[in-house]
Amino acid sequence: MPVEIRKDYLVNLPRELERVIDHARQGQPPTRGQCEYLLALEPASIEAGVVRAAADAASRERFGNEAMLLGQIGIETAPCPGNCKFCVFGKEHTTFPTARLDRREILARAHGFADGDDLYALFLMTMHEFGFADLLDTVVAVRAEIPAHTQIVVNIGDFDAAQAVELRAAGVGGAYHVCRLREGVDTDLDPARRRRTFDVIGQAGLDFYYCCEPIGPEHTPAELVEQMFLGIEAGCFQHAAMRRVWLPGSPLANRGQVTELRLAQVVAVVTLAALGCPETKSIAVHEPNLLGLSAGANVVYAEAGANPRDKAADTSGHRGLDIAGCRKMLYESGFTALCRGDGTTVPLDLESLAPPETARIP
Ligand code: SF4
Repeated sequence: MPVEIRKDYLVNLPRELERVIDHARQGQPPTRGQCEYLLALEPASIEAGVVRAAADAASRERFGNEAMLLGQIGIETAPCPGNCKFCVFGKEHTTFPTARLDRREILARAHGFADGDDLYALFLMTMHEFGFADLLDTVVAVRAEIPAHTQIVVNIGDFDAAQAVELRAAGVGGAYHVCRLREGVDTDLDPARRRRTFDVIGQAGLDFYYCCEPIGPEHTPAELVEQMFLGIEAGCFQHAAMRRVWLPGSPLANRGQVTELRLAQVVAVVTLAALGCPETKSIAVHEPNLLGLSAGANVVYAEAGANPRDKAADTSGHRGLDIAGCRKMLYESGFTALCRGDGTTVPLDLESLAPPETARIP
């Protein structure tokens, strides 16, 4: 159906939308009910465009038009007991063998991400079950290789308070953890157990990275709001939105995939809702894309190794965007500086995009 283009859009925004935008200008978040209203707008409508623009403006003001560059290494693959129906590693449908990057490969990838001196954090991702002692060894080895201004963050299965303390002592600065949309229905994991790990992360003093994911066409505004507010109520350091990637032959393939435009709408609502979360220091969009970065997101992740949304064993050069591509995307989105994990910033300009050998003409 063609999208209706109205000529009176500048003077006739719905009152509810005007209220949301007025509040956002004052740094006030929308209510849950207003978030549902915003998510029910047609993604290609003028109203949804206004929501994205309002979120973008609020985010740039809140974060000083600074962005964050993050990198993730999937260090292993195995048939995963989480059995998430949207993930290539779910034990009942995966075609991946059990495999692990060796230490040399992990360190080489860590250098590839961090050697530009502008990486905020390097994420180490495992399956839901993982070898804890081996992970600690990997953290210590990576910590010794990468600059102090780049943090290490883990994206692993559930863990307890003692393990959180050990992770922190080994040099971990944060953890990505999510109670996913339809957790326990589209996955074999216990939502309550997932949420308990939120508390463990906070109590250990680790930064809590959260995300509204994995978004599909079937998720209602009420479901999206319920799930995104779990992160806000837990004081997430980073909020985000990620769509479910269509994987032909996977258990949820028949549900399809939302567009990047719809994903940007969710990014915008997450951004506005997170105005009510003083702990939030950034908003991410997965996978990297320009629409999300003009709707409130100021973070993208470069990826290498295993990726739950990719049928390739190494996502770099496939679905995963490399670090140079992510840096350029942030630049093209108008961000002018990159934050590093120690609180310092570096400029994001044309010179920083140039490969080292052509950075300066003698
Ligand atoms: S999303 Fe994570 S927990 Fe779920 S099957 Fe994939 S690797 Fe396992």
